[in-house]
Amino acid sequence: MKKIIQYITLTFLLLFMAQSGFAQQCGTFEYENYLNTKFPGYAKALYQTRQQSLKEIEKMNKGGNDTVYRIPVVFHIVWNSKQQNIPDSLIYSQIDALNESYRHVHNDTAKVRTVFKPVVGDARIEFYLATIGPDGKPTNGIDRFKTTVSDFGDARGMGESVKSSFEYGVDAWNPDKYLNIWVCKFTYNGTIAITAYAFPPTNAKFWTAASFVSTDLQGVVINYQYVGKNNPNTQDPSSMKERTLVHEVGHFFGLRHTWADKKNVCSGEDDGLKDTPLSRAANRTCGANYNTCNEGTGDKPDMTENYMDYAAFPCTVMFTQEQVQLMRNNLLTLRSQLYKPLPQTYSKISVSPNPAKGDIRIVFEQQGEYTMNLTDIIGQPVDSEKFTVGYKLEHTCSTTLAAGIYYITITDSNNLVTQQRILVQ
Ligand SMILES: [Zn+2]
Repeated sequence: MKKIIQYITLTFLLLFMAQSGFAQQCGTFEYENYLNTKFPGYAKALYQTRQQSLKEIEKMNKGGNDTVYRIPVVFHIVWNSKQQNIPDSLIYSQIDALNESYRHVHNDTAKVRTVFKPVVGDARIEFYLATIGPDGKPTNGIDRFKTTVSDFGDARGMGESVKSSFEYGVDAWNPDKYLNIWVCKFTYNGTIAITAYAFPPTNAKFWTAASFVSTDLQGVVINYQYVGKNNPNTQDPSSMKERTLVHEVGHFFGLRHTWADKKNVCSGEDDGLKDTPLSRAANRTCGANYNTCNEGTGDKPDMTENYMDYAAFPCTVMFTQEQVQLMRNNLLTLRSQLYKPLPQTYSKISVSPNPAKGDIRIVFEQQGEYTMNLTDIIGQPVDSEKFTVGYKLEHTCSTTLAAGIYYITITDSNNLVTQQRILVQ
């Protein structure tokens, strides 16, 4: 029996990939398809749940404030060949790309067509490389691990084993406190069928129970070619490039695809949001005035510029306000530990002046040997210094920092850590 199920699953995947011409894409829906093959009736249950959820979206009231939530990110670079061990510079530019999209400040915002300008959303979510690791020690948020596995691809074209140290991958850092992103190679018989994928938060609206996996599996898995801006590794020209991760993090916060994974029908499933027009299927091209579903009065074309569609870079340029509302609601209710500051284990420091200009004075509670690491808003190292603090309990750093927000991380001789945010003018 088990063999038959596997056969059916494989057949389905083969058909699906043949149909899409091996176009590289997100694998989040393939997982649902897999479940439907494995558990007959899954699709029907999913449909019913989504219909109920449509009513519930009206009730969302959390997240409607101006607070900017900052999410610590860890990139697990699980590499076998040199190419897979992508440089820090690509990771930094990927964090930039995430922030530019989640704050809607990238260079392509003008590509939003006039008809959709009124519904563009600023998610007010920002990302930074974690500065404190799960052990309370300083980290640069980039966790590199050389593995003996040259390709983590499984029978579904996914790479789930990368999340397990028992399978020569890397275990998640506390998934309640960090957004885990695994970067590796995973293919389907040597070809990339799925660029990247992610799972929604447990109990997220518009998904059914069968879609939920344990929290330690809920980060993003992405092929190494699709991380960062101008990644030099060969990639499909029809890919979303650095916005691949923008799309996947959208799933991580509970967004569905804009076409709700329908196969050439307008009725039935929806992503649950009113400001994303109905469409019959994924769009892979931008600029075309597709309008695959007539919604009657107020009908709008397909929103090919949405990050949760499939159009190639740089076509996808926006989230809608309801997508933002849903992500923020999910963040506050289902991932509520994720934006809280990482644990502070060392006694307090105070930094002055803050806002700073020129020298920065740090006052300590105890004498001792300390290391200071200064990072910018996305977690890139800016400065590092070791010093002794004597009876005056203070240390002055001479800086010539550009204006912006920085984080001072102080480690003492027992490897205890404290962190302070500073604004430089
Ligand atoms: Zn997707």
